Amino acid sequence: MDTKKLDSEYIMHTYGRYDVALKEGKGCYAYDEQGKKYLDVSSGIGVNALGYCDDGWVKAVTQQLNTIQHMSNYFYSPQTSKLAEKLCSLTPFTKVCFGNSGAEANECAIKLARKYSFDKYGEGRNEIITLKNSFHGRTVTTLSATGQYVFHNYFFPFTEGFVYADGENIEDIKSKISDKTCAILMECVQGEGGVNILDKDLVKEIRAICDEKDIVLIVDEVQTGIGRTGKLFSYENYDIVPDVITVAKGLGGGLPIGGCLCTEKLENVMQPSTHGTTFGGNPVVCAGANYILSVIANDDFLSEVVKKGEYLKEKLLKLDGVKSVRSLGLMVGIELEDKDAHYVAKKCVENGLLMITAKTLLRMLPPLNISYEELDIAVEILEKTLKEI
Ligand SMILES: *Cc1c(COP(=O)(O)O)cnc(C)c1O
Repeated sequence: MDTKKLDSEYIMHTYGRYDVALKEGKGCYAYDEQGKKYLDVSSGIGVNALGYCDDGWVKAVTQQLNTIQHMSNYFYSPQTSKLAEKLCSLTPFTKVCFGNSGAEANECAIKLARKYSFDKYGEGRNEIITLKNSFHGRTVTTLSATGQYVFHNYFFPFTEGFVYADGENIEDIKSKISDKTCAILMECVQGEGGVNILDKDLVKEIRAICDEKDIVLIVDEVQTGIGRTGKLFSYENYDIVPDVITVAKGLGGGLPIGGCLCTEKLENVMQPSTHGTTFGGNPVVCAGANYILSVIANDDFLSEVVKKGEYLKEKLLKLDGVKSVRSLGLMVGIELEDKDAHYVAKKCVENGLLMITAKTLLRMLPPLNISYEELDIAVEILEKTLKEI
């Protein structure tokens, strides 16, 4: 069987893929169809939070698979209730709505904020401010929410009601707020947009303005959540509490899940038939997520993520050809001096290191349980690759 040939013949060409077909994996290593070994510092874009096929996660998922695999949302599900309770007990949020992806979680947050405003203030107060260089998903509405014009093409008409502000400029953000504004949606650290870390004072000021004007503050934690930045959620680095957060990627540990969490203020906005999805809260996925949280929502584990992030940053900064490193925890963007990041990433893959990019940066999102030795190997392969080209 020729995997690559079948792919190009039968799968819509929506991705530019690396020239590798991954067959299996364990821990931080993946193997292609020829048995070649790759160290993975991308985690399937921050999804495999504990690497490939973590023993505890596999056990939790397979146990649930042998118990009950799915029921409709007209019935209660123990694994789903348990996951919701765990997420709420670990955070200031009081209710969760489960879906299957990051984009869906953001769709839920957008609907939630608009209905909150509609219920309280009536029609017309429905604008949502998002930030330039943000990324919020690929549905028509979340593309519209994404503050990058390159995404606003072909699929017209896009969902109305999104206004884009400069995330480095509080005055610009303030100038976009009007009596139509119902929410601000932002990532504290922009992932796809180039690992841009928002300023702490700016985030606090946004929180204060939202409080003053009863604007719903939504933090998109799809990439930054579940320990990625060294805190369970990235907003904790900013000493604020959002009204709503969205989660996905790392929560499932490799299975599709999304979640929208809100504080008490919004917990009764959604009523039966205002939102839903067939697969949302699937018990097998939730069993895996319960396991992921049991490992990651732990102070010792999270402080190791911080330490590993600092260790990695220090080593990367010493490499020839590296201009700067932007990182928080194990969310790492590497600015190169003169080389093209996409070319370097491709060469890293050829050299056995699975690497991704964000805009013009190399990006690393390693499994959160990666070892120091594995980080050393990753840096060695990158160093060798930078020297070669
Ligand atoms: C990946 C991502 C999304 C979209 O998630 P999907 O699961 O691909 O729909 C949304 N927001 C952020 C910040 C992301 O990184």
